[in-house]
Amino acid sequence: MSPTSTAPRHVDHLVVGAGFAGLCAAIKLQEDGETDFVVIERGPDVGGTWRDNTYPGAACDVPSQLYSFSFAPNPDWSMSFSPQPEIQAYLQRVARESGTLDRFVFDTEVLEATWDDDDQTWTVETTGGTWTARTVIVGAGGLSEPRLPEIEGIEGFQGEVFHSARWDHDVSLAGKRVAVIGTGASAIQIVPEVQKVAAHLDVYQRTAPYVIPRNDRRYGRLERTALRHVPGLQKLYRTAIYWGRESYVPAFTIEPRIAWPAKQLALANIRKGIKDPALREKVTPTYDIGCKRILISNTYYPALDADNCDLVTDPIAKVTGNAIVTADGTEREVDVLVVATGFFTTELPITEHLTGRDGVTLAQRWRESGMSAYKGSTVPGFPNLFFIVGPNTGLGHSSMVFIIESQVSYIRDALRTMRASRYGAVEVREDAAASYNAALHRRMARTVWARGGCSSWYLDAHGRNTTLWPRSTFTFRGLTSRFDVGAYDVSAPPEGRDRTDRRPTDQGVPA
Ligand code: NAP
Repeated sequence: MSPTSTAPRHVDHLVVGAGFAGLCAAIKLQEDGETDFVVIERGPDVGGTWRDNTYPGAACDVPSQLYSFSFAPNPDWSMSFSPQPEIQAYLQRVARESGTLDRFVFDTEVLEATWDDDDQTWTVETTGGTWTARTVIVGAGGLSEPRLPEIEGIEGFQGEVFHSARWDHDVSLAGKRVAVIGTGASAIQIVPEVQKVAAHLDVYQRTAPYVIPRNDRRYGRLERTALRHVPGLQKLYRTAIYWGRESYVPAFTIEPRIAWPAKQLALANIRKGIKDPALREKVTPTYDIGCKRILISNTYYPALDADNCDLVTDPIAKVTGNAIVTADGTEREVDVLVVATGFFTTELPITEHLTGRDGVTLAQRWRESGMSAYKGSTVPGFPNLFFIVGPNTGLGHSSMVFIIESQVSYIRDALRTMRASRYGAVEVREDAAASYNAALHRRMARTVWARGGCSSWYLDAHGRNTTLWPRSTFTFRGLTSRFDVGAYDVSAPPEGRDRTDRRPTDQGVPA
């Protein structure tokens, strides 16, 4: 439903983003009887990254049984690693069946959100008008803003050019000369699909990734029937996958040498997929496995080895007209340029638009020190603002949905506490946030991400890993199981307003 008036509308809670995080928040808020909320989403539908990434070959590299809500199991996944359309359809179905969709305001972007300390309210300017809210829950995602490469002349490229997360399906690649810049998780899914149809494909690699086999398989009808009807079976399956994944954690966070078998798998995958010895050498990484995200594919190396594909490792110098020129002076003509260069991960763009108690934006606060939050969720100076998938909550090995559900549970408990104790505002204390982050970064120093000899999107401009969680996911679940009000400054509501006064009164988005 779209807002209809220009006067500010008030809600108790305003959620930003309708991906896994925002949808989970909406469903759980409703479960708690908190129906006075809206979800503001700049796109036309739920889904977030799974709505936006429609490139050929897009699929999840975490098994679907785990990469789904614990409260909305899906016995109908067709494959162990689901393709993007199935994940998007799953999110649409869960949203529909949850009965929360009338709370979502689509095609509306948050422009500015400002905390008013006197009124203890956030004022949120959007492209669809102004809202005020007691709490703002940001689920805008860490992989939502495409990062375009800074390459001389790229703006003047005369062919078609688009980012992997903004795939232009109107552009046919059949019989064309295509170039893909990047060899990350997106690119290695795109390359085999493009290689099948393009006349020629150039893949521009800056750093070789580790790629292990993709142990994907189709679920049989019998298996799906059993998952649907045998009580507890799907939960057992999910739990087994969870613990299997969790067993990787020590190799990432304590001793990278434990990952030796995974490295052998990756090297064997190269030998299996590529015959050309020179190409094998080019794709062999020179840093520790796990330092960058470990990728999975059975088709990437054979695609690179195909006659119509070249792997280019000379750095790109510039783009001229319809060609890419590398540092050695070679000019390669191209009709379609696919930029698979990732996202803004360490300076979340939405933070430019969040202004806290001292009139400072969150981006300003983080500019010097890098991103940091308490339990990935709250930031000093920004009362009643909660993040889902905030700083240091990312995973290299398991399902982000597990983290999202943990954070949503923390936020729910915060809201319950606020209501029960009649707090107008809660704000994490500077000392609590500082000691939490000091301990986190002490652990981070031991991880393969810090000492594996690579640079990655996990690290910010200061070389600090502000994106990943450096411990087990069950530790994170434990830390977020309860809202620890002792770490927060709390204040009573402004004179004349009782925090408990506002109970949900209406259905649908208030007009
Ligand atoms: P990414 O992992 O950040 O990869 C970007 C690639 O572009 C890297 O190979 C990078 O090289 C290269 N690159 C960046 N700037 C460049 C430049 N100026 N010139 C040449 N090369 C450049 O991005 P992504 O592949 O989109 O994946 C991002 C994250 O999204 C993943 O790590 C994963 O968490 C998620 N994802 C998941 C899936 C899945 O579940 N299957 C699929 C896609 C994405 P360097 O390595 O040298 O920096």
